[in-house]
Amino acid sequence: MLRRLRSRLPRPSPAVRIGLGLASLVVALLLIIDLVFGIFPSPSGALAEQRSRAAQDIATQTVVLLEAGQDTALDRTIALAVARDERLARIRVERSDGTTLIDRRASGLAESQARDPASAYRVSLMNAAGNWGRVSVWFRDPPDSAGSLLLRTPLLPVMIAMGTICFVVFALYLRRVLSHLDPASVVPARIRQAFDVFSSGIVVVDRQAQILLANERFTELAGLPRDAALTGTALHRIPGFTETLAESAANHPWALAMDTGEALGGARMDIRRPDGSRRRLLVNSAPIDDGDGKVRGCLISFEDITQIVDLNEQLARSNAELLRSKQDIEQMNTELSRLAARDPVTGAFNRRALFENFEALFAAARHNSSTLCCIMSDIDHFKRFNDQYGHAAGDAVLRAVNQVLADELREQDILARYGGEEFCIVLPGVELTIARQVAERLRAAVETKAGQCITDPRSLRITASFGVSVLAPDVRSPEHLIELADQALYAAKAGGRNCVVTANGMPAAA
Ligand code: GH3
Ligand code: MG
Ligand code: MG
Repeated sequence: MLRRLRSRLPRPSPAVRIGLGLASLVVALLLIIDLVFGIFPSPSGALAEQRSRAAQDIATQTVVLLEAGQDTALDRTIALAVARDERLARIRVERSDGTTLIDRRASGLAESQARDPASAYRVSLMNAAGNWGRVSVWFRDPPDSAGSLLLRTPLLPVMIAMGTICFVVFALYLRRVLSHLDPASVVPARIRQAFDVFSSGIVVVDRQAQILLANERFTELAGLPRDAALTGTALHRIPGFTETLAESAANHPWALAMDTGEALGGARMDIRRPDGSRRRLLVNSAPIDDGDGKVRGCLISFEDITQIVDLNEQLARSNAELLRSKQDIEQMNTELSRLAARDPVTGAFNRRALFENFEALFAAARHNSSTLCCIMSDIDHFKRFNDQYGHAAGDAVLRAVNQVLADELREQDILARYGGEEFCIVLPGVELTIARQVAERLRAAVETKAGQCITDPRSLRITASFGVSVLAPDVRSPEHLIELADQALYAAKAGGRNCVVTANGMPAAA
């Protein structure tokens, strides 16, 4: 806040500032000299001197008139003087024997002002015969306001006059001298023009970061008029810089470069120009030393990288957006392939997914000479659920049976909805006897658990029949293995349902 206010206040020229400083110095020196040697009279001394002289004058006139024997004229003169001269309070002329000849006092005075013998100025009156008498003069107290006291103090007006004259003389002189020392005028025009050719903003600053030289490109970057007088201005006081630079001047890139004595490249800073637009800058600061290694200033270049930074930011935003879309697409693809592989009613693999996986397992089993079994299962009298409780209840039965079968199977087994209310199960690495046991376990699970999975309608009795086949050397394809299991299933239906039959004709225990 204070910083901003300071930057807005008009800054007096260096000549005025130095002139003011020198004038103050002269006044201070005069005051010290006066304090030590007392070169100026004190106001009370001057007043006493003045009064003593006035009393002397009155005494001289009195002697002249007395010697001429003009007592009446003397009285009139004194009366007139007391009435007209506002400094006078009273005049008394006494003879040496103590008798009063004349005693005139100004009217309307406080008694004390004209009576106190201590405040009277006394002058002896001498004639040819010796001491004739004396004149006593009382003066009025001077008005005592502070202003008049100051004005009566001879030192103050002298100091004011002295200070003003010194200031004007110094300021004029310095202005002339500084114009010769102005760095801007010191730098030859052709060098300035050479700097103006650069596409970067170039600034040369002194140790206090005050600008000694700034090229045209810099004033343009800062959004200032081409002829802006920047010489002498601290770089961080340029309006656009003040807002965006670090509060502490010691942290500015050029200050760091000057402090360390090392060039500092690639510093980034943004400036807000007077028109509100933002410029992004790349700052390179190279300290300038005086040959003895003492840093005297810094050469700073400002590269306008607004376009690149804006483009980069835009690119980063687009990339992030692209990444998001890619993730969305991947998610949708996963969902799509899940939907493409699953049966919508039960969530089990559909026929297409079944064959995709089955073929791979079939080929692997053939290749590894390992075993592989297939179980076909069909819900018994399924049509009755539909007929009795409606299609939705039929669907619930399908989901319940699928759930019970899935719970009983291993991770590597395949469970697929083959058709209407038929399920196909593939068991890799399993012998026929084990497969038959698995089928039996599945059958028992459907019988005991499937009905409980359904709340509406309650207490449904659900059973299923199972046919089991094994990958024998003469089995040609997955379809062939399914067909063999299907035949066994047909036999199970014929054998009374809710039972397991193996394809080689061996009936399993119900
Ligand atoms: P069986 O014990 O001999 O197998 O008799 P079943 O009634 O189970 O066999 P059938 O082939 O006579 O009837 C199967 C019925 O399954 C016919 C069809 O309407 C029904 N169905 C097929 N697919 C679906 C389905 O997705 N949902 C429902 N609710 N019913 C289906
Ligand atoms: Mg059926
Ligand atoms: Mg059927």
